[in-house]
Amino acid sequence: MTQKLDESTPERKKRVRRLITALKKLYPDADCALTHDNPLELLISTILSAQSTDETVNKVTPVLFRKYKSAKALADAPREDVEEVIHSTGFFRQKAKSIQGTCRKIVEDFGGDVPDTMDDLLTLPGVARKTANVVLGTAFGKCEGIVVDTHVGRISTRLGVTWSSKNGKDAVKIERDLMEVVPRKDWIFWGHALVRHGRRICNARKPDCTSCTLAKNCPTSETHSATASGAA
Ligand code: SF4
Repeated sequence: MTQKLDESTPERKKRVRRLITALKKLYPDADCALTHDNPLELLISTILSAQSTDETVNKVTPVLFRKYKSAKALADAPREDVEEVIHSTGFFRQKAKSIQGTCRKIVEDFGGDVPDTMDDLLTLPGVARKTANVVLGTAFGKCEGIVVDTHVGRISTRLGVTWSSKNGKDAVKIERDLMEVVPRKDWIFWGHALVRHGRRICNARKPDCTSCTLAKNCPTSETHSATASGAA
């Protein structure tokens, strides 16, 4: 599933460009679906989105941000109050701990403002490269990496544009492969577009290859089509 295809790097880069052209036709306005008004809100929303849906997070965050309007207010809030508000997003105890730890660090080390570099963001508790890339790309317009969530990892693997992660789940290795072949100007778009594609067409259990416009540039389309039609 994750083996490197028999194509040269220039050939793979050309195929990726064709995929990006098709994705831009499909999702011309691909953007972050998490509702936010500033970098802090996006950071907290992204932490909450782990193992949850954007819809659920978008219902919870207006309540959270109305109650707590700054990193300091969130850091100082009673833990059980935060847990109660974010309860429906799942893993609420761990998420409340991460949110308050992150907010405390933002207050203590960054004067209350979300930092805008990868190195600084990675010092925040509960923030790994995926969250840092979301905040850098969407809130600050800085392209330092590619967001690799479950959709991006799965579809990039099916598309044969990542090969280093043996189980197709190592986000750091997948991101490194993608940064080799996706043009930097499209790094932010790649993440947003594949999240959309994963929800609409290329879902985990039953990718709809017959109606997928990426199929002619996707090496696994025939495998999935054959499986769906019951072929051996
Ligand atoms: S052709 Fe199938 S496997 Fe490939 S991206 Fe489209 S839906 Fe996914």
